Amino acid sequence: MTTTDPLSPVSRTALSVALVRAYESSRPEPLFTDPYAAAFVTASGMPMPTSGPASGLAKGLVVHGILRTRFYDDRLLAAGADQVVLLAAGLDARAYRLDWPAGTRLFELDLAPVLTFKQQVLDELGADPAGERTTLPGDLLDPDWPRRLVEAGLDPGRPTVWLAEGLLVYLTADQAAGLLTAVGTLSAPGSRLLLEKGRDVTSTPQDPALAHITDLWQGGLGPHTHEWLDAHGWNTRLTLLDEVAAVYGRPFPPGSGPSTTGFIEAVRTGDNGRDSSAR
Ligand code: SAM
Repeated sequence: MTTTDPLSPVSRTALSVALVRAYESSRPEPLFTDPYAAAFVTASGMPMPTSGPASGLAKGLVVHGILRTRFYDDRLLAAGADQVVLLAAGLDARAYRLDWPAGTRLFELDLAPVLTFKQQVLDELGADPAGERTTLPGDLLDPDWPRRLVEAGLDPGRPTVWLAEGLLVYLTADQAAGLLTAVGTLSAPGSRLLLEKGRDVTSTPQDPALAHITDLWQGGLGPHTHEWLDAHGWNTRLTLLDEVAAVYGRPFPPGSGPSTTGFIEAVRTGDNGRDSSAR
């Protein structure tokens, strides 16, 4: 690994996401191409798998990771805000690989070691961000991060598009509610928030090969995340995973049954739910 500061277990989950993005980028007709993902995995010393995902859970997580990357890529660009905040950005390379309109400002927040490692790899590759990129190392459970984000240049008086990808499941319900409350206070009407639907982690199938990820899951606000948002000044639209798969022409594994996972796009109303523009 390039950095001398080891990644914590939760930060190492960003490498698993990078691995999924590297895998998809290497396939014919990928849903997206992330030219940095394989470099992150290689620099970390994590072995590149020689075969595809084995268990049902692993296959499901890979499909989910691929579809969510493309879904968020498209929704972030469609949001049209010139302020973008990637909460728990991990090894997300969207600042470098998406075609942001001129003048877009991107803020990436995550724990310091993962941002240091990411920067080292990007610098070694000579990568240049497509928008103006600011990184903010720190713990999102520290109540000071909103002040630091505004100090770094976020204008809470104008709409922001927020992404919380692969984050809330690692938090408790109280921590997730606290984080989303802070996001709400910084969100002018019309701001957008993208995040996962949330899952019931008590019914996760067991796969010892994935315990380094699933043992860290605390559930966040679970499958009721959209209801919490609707009650706290957001207007949500839920898109289930099989719907996303159909939109992008990816076969959904037969026999998977109805999707229990998916993605939320929420629009800040500022008036507890009367703006219906997300529907
Ligand atoms: N969003 C990225 C993506 O999808 O590629 C990374 C997702 S990864 C599964 C989870 C990320 O959450 C890690 O980068 C980890 O460091 C970050 N994270 C977890 N808890 C955090 C906290 N309390 N403060 C800041 N970052 C946190």
